[in-house]
Amino acid sequence: MRILVIEDDKDLNRQLVTALGDGGYAVDHAFDGEEGYFLGETEPYDVVILDLGLPKMDGISILEQWRRAERTMPVIILTARDRWSEKVAGMDAGADDYIAKPFHMEELLARVRAQVRRAAGHAKSEIECGNVRLDTKSARVTSDGQQVKLTSHEYRLLAYLMHHQGRVVSRTELVEHLYEQDFDRDSNTIEVFIGRLRKKLPPELIETVRGLGYRMHDGSDAA
Ligand code: CA
Repeated sequence: MRILVIEDDKDLNRQLVTALGDGGYAVDHAFDGEEGYFLGETEPYDVVILDLGLPKMDGISILEQWRRAERTMPVIILTARDRWSEKVAGMDAGADDYIAKPFHMEELLARVRAQVRRAAGHAKSEIECGNVRLDTKSARVTSDGQQVKLTSHEYRLLAYLMHHQGRVVSRTELVEHLYEQDFDRDSNTIEVFIGRLRKKLPPELIETVRGLGYRMHDGSDAA
C-alpha cells in the first residue's frame, strides 16, 4: 500500500512518514499544496493524509479538484481541534475521514488501516486466504497458525495481494503501489519477491496468470 502525506509542518510530516513506513507502507510526502496536489493527481495512492492549512494551495481546494477529476482514493484530512466548520467543509469536499490535531499516531494508523481495508472491500482487520492470515493491526502473517517472518517488501507485496484477493493484479499495479516515488522501480524485482513468498507460504497461494499478473484466491472459488 502506498500513502501520500501532505503536511507543511516539517516535524509532523517527518513523524507521519516514519510511523507509516514502520507500519509497512510505502510513503511519499509533500510540504506544500501544489506539490501534494500534483502527486495525488498523477500517482496512485491507497490513502492520502491531507492537512487543510497549506502554503500555495489549501487542502479543501486540492480535495475538490481531485474529486472533480474523479480521483477517488481515500483521503483523511488533518484539522484543527476547535474548528468544527473545517471538518464539515472537508467532509463535504470529499474527505473520507478526519483527525483533529494534536492526535496520537496510533489513532491515525488505525484510521489509515480502516480506509485501506474499506477501499478493498474488507470489514475486518484480519484478512484470510486459505490457511494464511494477515493481521493488518500488528503487520503479522501466519500460515496454519505459525508465524511467517517476512521482510518489509515481502509484507507489502503480500498485504496488497491479500487485500485484493480474487482479482488479477498486474505487475505494473504492484510496482505502483509498493514503492515510493523515488524508488528505482524494476518490475522484475516483483517476480523475485513472489518467489520468496512462495517459499515461505503454501506455494499454490499466489497464482501466476500468464501475461496478466498474479492472483490470490478468496476462498469462494477455491477447490
Ligand atoms: Ca498546516
